Amino acid sequence: MSKRDYYEVLGCDRNASADELKKAYRKLAMQYHPDRNPDDPGAADKFKELNEAYDCLKDEQKRAAYDRFGHAAFEGGGRGGGGFADFGFGGGGGGFSDLFEEMFGDMMGGGRRGQGSGRGADLRFNMEITLEEAFAGKAATITVPSSAQCDACHGTGGKDGSQPATCPTCHGHGKVRAQQGFFTIERTCPTCQGMGKVIKDPCKVCGGQGRVRKDKTLQVQVPAGVEDGTRIRLSGEGEAGMRGAPPGDLYIFLSLVQHRLFQRDGANIYCRVPIPMVTATLGGTIEVPTIEGKLSKVTIPPGTQTGNQFRLKGKGMSVLRSTARGDMFIQAVVETPVNLSKRQEELLREFESAGDNADGKHNSPESRSFFDKVKELWKDLTE
Ligand SMILES: [Zn+2]
Ligand SMILES: [Zn+2]
Repeated sequence: MSKRDYYEVLGCDRNASADELKKAYRKLAMQYHPDRNPDDPGAADKFKELNEAYDCLKDEQKRAAYDRFGHAAFEGGGRGGGGFADFGFGGGGGGFSDLFEEMFGDMMGGGRRGQGSGRGADLRFNMEITLEEAFAGKAATITVPSSAQCDACHGTGGKDGSQPATCPTCHGHGKVRAQQGFFTIERTCPTCQGMGKVIKDPCKVCGGQGRVRKDKTLQVQVPAGVEDGTRIRLSGEGEAGMRGAPPGDLYIFLSLVQHRLFQRDGANIYCRVPIPMVTATLGGTIEVPTIEGKLSKVTIPPGTQTGNQFRLKGKGMSVLRSTARGDMFIQAVVETPVNLSKRQEELLREFESAGDNADGKHNSPESRSFFDKVKELWKDLTE
């Protein structure tokens, strides 16, 4: 099926500006939108064609490729989600493949030469760790489902380790060429899937894959100071490659479990600590737990209020790849006494009736000034 020229689809000429393309696209998209053409079965196809054309031309890099090579610039893909590496040009060495890898490297996922290499897949392993483990670091043993080189054939995929034979279709190139218009298009060889070799007598253990499924046990060192979402890459610990090709990588994704007492903010740790009313009033000492599993004494000054913050310098989290440590912040929450005995109640009544300004200062200056303001407000409103 021959494809219409993208510029023709949009009704623009080849040196139309990005703005002109956009305008043309919008106009036609309105016209061909399937919702607007419920009775025209051809509208959906036109709409699709239009979107494909605009998707290509709105991207400067793709447009440049299209201007040079036409539709051939985007053909031949389909394998392994990348595609562009499959495009080649008649003539040795696949020079155009290289060009395309350069141009579209990012779109192909980092320009990896996926074609025919059989490189093993990357694996992801999710690991939960506690805040204490993130603080101290952790040596963990993990088991990941993976595949490893087949021992029976030493990874060749051939029976008893026999070497694979050169592919009769592509004679070992891994690619076949076909004439298409002006171009000689190279495609991945369908017989050997680009490997260049075929196995006549496949290994029974792995079915010719050269690898078998196998759980793998690994030692992982989680460094101190990691954060929620940190990734650790273990190079070459992913899936084994096909028939001796390089393995993929293993990525460990760390997530931190919520701590019962501590909140973390980067290198600092916050802890809300309830303080008995009498301690808050008269001052005193409290003991608070720290992330390294010890207790730290904190002096509470007389007159401590809810929301007052005390800093324990250097008692916070460890910092990744550093010997530095953050701080810990104690946030005071003054606790109002409950479940009073008769006697306690009497004492508090007595406290209240003793008068609050023996030397002219109030016991509760903040409440006093607040209620004074309320009075003023009320006066202003009623006058
Ligand atoms: Zn095998
Ligand atoms: Zn082949």
